Amino acid sequence: MFSEKLKKISWAETTEKIMSKTESDVLRALGRNHCSVEDLMALISPAAEPYLEQMARLSRKYTLERFGKTMQMFIPLYMTNSCTNSCVYCSFHISNPMKRTVLSMEQIEEEFRSIKKLSPFENILLLTGENPAVADARYIGRAIELARKYFSNIKIEVMPLSVEDYEYLVGKGLNGVICFQETYNRERYNIYHPRGMKSKFEWRVDGYDRMGMAGVHTIGMGALIGLEDWRTDVTMMAYHLRYLEKNYWKTKYSVNFPRMRPSENGGFQPNVIMTDRELAQVTFAFRIFDHDVDISYSTREPKEIRDNMATLGVTTMSAESHTEPGGYSHPQESLEQFHVSDERKATEVVSDLKKLGLEPVWKDWDDVMN
Ligand code: SF4
Repeated sequence: MFSEKLKKISWAETTEKIMSKTESDVLRALGRNHCSVEDLMALISPAAEPYLEQMARLSRKYTLERFGKTMQMFIPLYMTNSCTNSCVYCSFHISNPMKRTVLSMEQIEEEFRSIKKLSPFENILLLTGENPAVADARYIGRAIELARKYFSNIKIEVMPLSVEDYEYLVGKGLNGVICFQETYNRERYNIYHPRGMKSKFEWRVDGYDRMGMAGVHTIGMGALIGLEDWRTDVTMMAYHLRYLEKNYWKTKYSVNFPRMRPSENGGFQPNVIMTDRELAQVTFAFRIFDHDVDISYSTREPKEIRDNMATLGVTTMSAESHTEPGGYSHPQESLEQFHVSDERKATEVVSDLKKLGLEPVWKDWDDVMN
């Protein structure tokens, strides 16, 4: 399990290593076909900042070689905002007296129909808060069965599950699971996740092993940018990715760098800020580090950044997202997890991607065939 590996990697020493990378480390990394985690550290370090243009060119080249001029499109659907956890940065945390709702299967189907009216989405991401008493694996399984009538690729972003539950959901037609570790800083993890199942660091970080064991086809990873030093968190994620690729080599992987926005949580302010240039740097670095990994940008990022990065490394995007349960049929801002930055309609996103020479792809044939 990865938690055992992680114990042997010192957070403080990793931070120190990254910050001591030099220009020659950066040039060495840029010259390699296959980068190590040490190379990634150089590419995300301050020493690489003057090489951003060179990194952008390499990132674009590798992305074109592996993915062509395409952009996979997906849409998220929140099935419930009920949650028993108390993540200090999230509006769904248990102590927030907001209205909670759990969509029935009829309401979920209404959402599917509303989504289909927006654009020909085939990739859907089903999300829940973490409250198995109202939305357990059976509930998620029923939603997946229903989704198969409307979508060819179904992913979930829910609480970490057991191997048996993941296997059960794969049997129902699940294609992928996204889970954000939020931070790999074991010492400080519980400052942000003080109560509930999410406070169990090892259960969460080993969830990716359980997905791999259950034969989940696509695993999505991410560190929430805004909690701890982002360079160190991204490096830990790179160690994690390499570990998973070695142990579950049939699985496809995606990464995401969700940036917490200062105003989104009405209380908690990010501890660290990743600038737009740094987001570009980490995206290029990850593409150079791993030519095959899917890099996903959500509507948390504004239009300008999504458009700029669309040809430089990003391979998957959401569009016209609602983060409140029932939001596609009956929008209600008061139920949102966070307010999106890119508020374009899916048709506008598609038209802007086409202007950039990209072909939006609705159906992931690779996933469907597996
Ligand atoms: S981040 Fe997820 S687990 Fe934490 S409070 Fe929000 S919905 Fe619940």
